[in-house]
Amino acid sequence: MFDDSTMPGHLRESMARRKQIPDTEDRQEWKDLICSRCKGLCCRYITVEIDPPEDEEDLDNIRWYMIHRGISILVEDEKWYVKMDARCEHLLPNGRCAIYDSRPQACRDYDTENCDYRTVYEGRATAYREYTDFDRLRRSTKKRWAREAAKKRKRKRK
Ligand code: SF4
Ligand code: SF4
Repeated sequence: MFDDSTMPGHLRESMARRKQIPDTEDRQEWKDLICSRCKGLCCRYITVEIDPPEDEEDLDNIRWYMIHRGISILVEDEKWYVKMDARCEHLLPNGRCAIYDSRPQACRDYDTENCDYRTVYEGRATAYREYTDFDRLRRSTKKRWAREAAKKRKRKRK
């Protein structure tokens, strides 16, 4: 159980406010508040979706991504992404956005519900698993393939 007494006071306040704020307009207000406390953690990388690997050749292509500095792989259920460390040109030193009113739709759509800041401060599990080490990714992928193959065999027997 997360102990909120260890949280920074401002975040505890904002969480308490959130519990009392049910409607959409105020929820936006709450999002603005939490973002105003953050240094733009979500504005420091981009992700690009890729096909999940199906064989060793696909895995070797992923290894090629990962031998480059600043690259990691995110896996969220069936979705795979290449994550590239890249600070947005519009992120100001104080963590604010220099083009807030005209920011891209992807920035508008990003939700604070499970964002980087909240997973750090609330000790939540991230919705995805991040791999920076290829061997670990390969081991985990091979286990996944074995599970999927076993499921297929089971379905065929029915
Ligand atoms: S990581 Fe979360 S709190 Fe920080 S700017 Fe992004 S959405 Fe806002
Ligand atoms: S445009 Fe603004 S909100 Fe979007 S990534 Fe850049 S700094 Fe962040």
